[in-house]
Amino acid sequence: MRIYNTLDRKKELFKPVKEGKVGIYVCGPTVYDYIHIGNARPMIVFDTLRRYLTYKGYEVNYVSNFTDVDDKIIKRANEEGVPSIEISEKYIEECKKDMAELNVLPATTHPQATLEIPDMIAMVQELIEKGHAYEKNGTVYFRVRSFPTYGKLSHKNIDDLESGHRDESHALKVTGDDEKEDPLDFVLWKPKKEGEPAWESPWGEGRPGWHLECSVMSRKYIGGTLDIHAGGEDLIFPHHENEIAQSEAANGQQFSKYWMHNAFLKINNEKMSKSLGNFFTVRDITKKYNGQVLRYFMLSAQYRTPLNFSADLIQSSANGLDRIFNGAEKLRDTMEKGSKAPITAEEQAMLDKEVAGFVKQFDEAMDDDLNTADAISAIFELIKFSNSNVNENSTAAFAEGIYKELKVLSEDVLGIKLERKAQVLDSDIEALIAERTQARKDKNFARADEIRDELLAMGIELKDTREGVKWIRK
Ligand code: AMP
Ligand code: ZN
Repeated sequence: MRIYNTLDRKKELFKPVKEGKVGIYVCGPTVYDYIHIGNARPMIVFDTLRRYLTYKGYEVNYVSNFTDVDDKIIKRANEEGVPSIEISEKYIEECKKDMAELNVLPATTHPQATLEIPDMIAMVQELIEKGHAYEKNGTVYFRVRSFPTYGKLSHKNIDDLESGHRDESHALKVTGDDEKEDPLDFVLWKPKKEGEPAWESPWGEGRPGWHLECSVMSRKYIGGTLDIHAGGEDLIFPHHENEIAQSEAANGQQFSKYWMHNAFLKINNEKMSKSLGNFFTVRDITKKYNGQVLRYFMLSAQYRTPLNFSADLIQSSANGLDRIFNGAEKLRDTMEKGSKAPITAEEQAMLDKEVAGFVKQFDEAMDDDLNTADAISAIFELIKFSNSNVNENSTAAFAEGIYKELKVLSEDVLGIKLERKAQVLDSDIEALIAERTQARKDKNFARADEIRDELLAMGIELKDTREGVKWIRK
């Protein structure tokens, strides 16, 4: 497999540190609210990477954190008058529900910053001992100039960064607010402020800086050198650059062999923002569409291409997914009702040639820097082939041979299940139909139409016949 490595800005052959094993660390969300659909992009993309590597036979250790101590969480907690842990615990649970809806597998470990404080303090101490960090009045800073390769991930030059900071540094020095040795230095440990959660440390009560969390938790749950570190492209600088500085200064070894960054998701071609009103949570979308549709939508583009979200685009994903469901349904039907005779020589030849060819096409797309867009095209070709070659004369064994491959590619690798979401219960449908019949008797046609639409949204179509109301699952 070839992976585009942000470090070298080119596609490179993937070779893990230890043969057969892969350690992946993905920066997770800050839990102060429901996650938005932008946050879902790295979750879905890197979950698919994990699934693909597992399919290729690797043992994958997948670690993704929850940032549960942060200014945004504290602000929300203060607004609501509750302890910040109440906010973070609530939104971790909600995030896990969204992940399940999107069929994102739980990580091997989901570390939380607040549960790892002793290890964070230990890393700060190591950095101070090695001359890479210093304390000033309860704040500990990383000494950027002590790490000569600073800037290697974001391809920034340390002197350019310094000159960019000059004005700010002048202003700070004039006001006397800043105690840093150098404006480039960043915070590892910050002292407690009134109303903030804090932990005891050798530098007084305080809390860890955001960048430190990921360096500490990735080392603890994966090791000194990660195979792949991933996240959204906004994290390249300063977050990931600072993680590299901290980890390599502390551990004396390369922090991560490969760095993968997903491009951003926009809405109606604009940056997602609450104030512009173009902002959706995963929960907003999954009220209307099955989580599978959102997953399919995210995978319909290669992860380094910017992706645009709109009502039309999500609807066309729903339609695309339907074609996959229908193809799978037809195969299942033949598996059940087709001839139980042994597979014919002609059918076996098609499995060996065409079907194997589509699987190869899928693998090649995924091997090319996780090109899920082309991988989905391979699935469509497989479905098209199946639709035109599986018919009433086919053996069940032939249909099964195709279905098995389709299931591995779609369900195991892309995480897209081959069955429509759990069916709405018949009893619920019947109850709504009875309510609609009553509403019509009462001449409340508005309510009757509303119920028809509600049912349609659940995939249930009503037919008014002379024998009464009949319904079908679409
Ligand atoms: P945050 O909670 O802001 O730290 O974000 C969690 C993850 O979501 C990070 O990997 C971000 O890079 C990613 N992310 C945030 N917004 C977007 C977006 N609009 N499109 C794609 N990824 C995003
Ligand atoms: Zn991180």
